[in-house]
Amino acid sequence: MPSHPFSVVALDVGGTKIAGGLVTYPEKGARPDVSRPVSVPTDAARGGAAVLDDMVEVARTLIAQATCPVIGIGADTAGVVDPETGSIAYANQIMPGWTGRAVARRLASEFDLSAANMGDVHAHALGEARWGAACGLHSCLMVGIGTGLGGAFVLDGKVLRGFRGAAGHIGHTLHHLACDLPCACGGASHAETVTSGTALCARYQGKSFGDELDPSCMGAEIARRAETGDERAAEAIEFAGDALGQAIGSWCNILDPEAVVLSGSVVNAGPRWRYALEQGFQRQALTPLSDTRIIEGALGASAPLIGAAENLLDSIDASAKE
Ligand SMILES: [Zn+2]
Repeated sequence: MPSHPFSVVALDVGGTKIAGGLVTYPEKGARPDVSRPVSVPTDAARGGAAVLDDMVEVARTLIAQATCPVIGIGADTAGVVDPETGSIAYANQIMPGWTGRAVARRLASEFDLSAANMGDVHAHALGEARWGAACGLHSCLMVGIGTGLGGAFVLDGKVLRGFRGAAGHIGHTLHHLACDLPCACGGASHAETVTSGTALCARYQGKSFGDELDPSCMGAEIARRAETGDERAAEAIEFAGDALGQAIGSWCNILDPEAVVLSGSVVNAGPRWRYALEQGFQRQALTPLSDTRIIEGALGASAPLIGAAENLLDSIDASAKE
């Protein structure tokens, strides 16, 4: 471990934006700070090479702003990330030309610094597990509910990445309420089609998952309408909350996490959604799991940046032991 204080340049790359910041470790055992937040559009349609070039430029800007030594670059990105190399093992058509990009290798060679890359949902979970809502817990299942539905399982402070880096795709597990609905992944009947923010909006608007939606009437607006007597809004919110709760109960029956951590924009859907989620969870969770705590993430947008920085520190530790 390098001597304190030190900073890690952290980059968080999603389909819509490249976010970055300096994650600074002031002293041993102290929670890291995130400073110098920066965000530029991903504009993924330009192709993977252009996105990677922009990551390099964001990193360059952050390195120039650092006030203590930068020990490396920790990235997290959309797509399935190879756990060994930090390259993109698979990305869908939303990120054309992203598959195969050697993200960690490019960042390391560009700046002659250590670099690491991991999946964005994995990084989010690692951040919450090391320094956020699940800090100090035996294990947690992180569930991210936004446009889609993602997840990650953390045990003893380590994210379960899977053999190919693809572990945790809970949005693409079977859901009995999703009967034959086509999913964004190409499959059907998946949890994402009934539990995600997109699914909630589609249901309220009387459309199917995958249909074009009216952007003026999305999550927060539906939650507001539900509280002012719009019965269809209330029904859509209760359905989505209950469907998610049942799915979480089912995943907990496999993993038995100490706690479930919720994150993503849909967490703000209000008490009606949350109550339905708890009820759905209790219907599916086995009796010994019924006291599993379901809590909200504590780090917000800093979670993936801190997780990516932690992943870099882990990789530096691992190479020091080799
Ligand atoms: Zn799917």
